[in-house]
Amino acid sequence: MEIRSLRDIQPGEECFIHYVNVLQTVNVRRKKLYDNYRFWCECLRCKRELKILADTAIGDRLKLEETEAKAQTFLAKIDKEFDENYYKMLETCETGLDAVQNDLDTTNPHMAQLHVRTQEACIGLQKWKAAVKSGMEIIRACKTHLLPTDPILGFHMWRVAKIQAVTLNQPIVARDLLQQAIDVMSIGYGSTHPMTMEAKELLGTIIDQ
Ligand SMILES: [Zn+2]
Repeated sequence: MEIRSLRDIQPGEECFIHYVNVLQTVNVRRKKLYDNYRFWCECLRCKRELKILADTAIGDRLKLEETEAKAQTFLAKIDKEFDENYYKMLETCETGLDAVQNDLDTTNPHMAQLHVRTQEACIGLQKWKAAVKSGMEIIRACKTHLLPTDPILGFHMWRVAKIQAVTLNQPIVARDLLQQAIDVMSIGYGSTHPMTMEAKELLGTIIDQ
């Protein structure tokens, strides 16, 4: 087993791993942790995000919870009903985004999860430009909520850069993002991980052009 640290560790500092998808809201993460592991998470991030919620005016908080619940319903429907039925999946993602996007920040984790499924459907349907567009939204949300070295961020950067460079044949457009993906993946996955190696090889061919 190999353990990779995403940031420097101070002497005596406790190390944590996450048991759930970290690109979710604090309430969703804590509920899943409680349902699956029977504890209410008190990590620094949960405490920080709970404090923000507690400081939000009650009316705004109820509105936010209502909209997030709506987004959750769409996500659950997509995951349950449309496995590999990409037309239906995309249609429901678009309806879901339309229903919630006026009331949620563009980087809200529920928005990001809808974009993740939108991108999956677009890739399945070979709608590559739309897949890049969703990918950019996912990257923005990852940058907002995750550590800058999180492998999830690296993965999404790599996915978008690869579509741009290889499928859309726009290597120059992809170059900066590809470099960033390599920097992040070198820490998150390691510099010799097959995905990092493949990204480096692709960047090499772009620089040679
Ligand atoms: Zn936590």
